Amino acid sequence: MDNYLCHFRPDSLHREPKLIVTMSSLHQLLMSCTECAGETTYRMTEVRGTYVKFEIRCPSCLHSRTWETSPKVGYSFSMNVILSGAILFTGASSAKTLRVLAEAGIYVPCDRTYGNIQSDYLFGVSKYKYI
Ligand SMILES: [Zn+2]
Repeated sequence: MDNYLCHFRPDSLHREPKLIVTMSSLHQLLMSCTECAGETTYRMTEVRGTYVKFEIRCPSCLHSRTWETSPKVGYSFSMNVILSGAILFTGASSAKTLRVLAEAGIYVPCDRTYGNIQSDYLFGVSKYKYI
């Protein structure tokens, strides 16, 4: 495999590749300070479905930063909307899809949040796409 993932153009969130990452692999990235390479401490400060925000602090150089699993677009969590759209536009069962992902340990929006995303963002889009 070439280094395809390293050359994506971040011009469209829904078209760029997404990865499923284990917490132990993510730990390898979060545990090292980006300023001094010292060992950091970090914690999850926000979890909203697929979105997780970490606060990272370095006790050696006192640098602190935050890191998010995906960007927010306005007040919405982009990957929650993208996942919900993929479920809706493929005709997949939302309950089964979300249950499969949750059973694999992947953070997903709950059924109620999925319903809110559908009504707030996706039903309007599907009117333009299919009518
Ligand atoms: Zn540091």
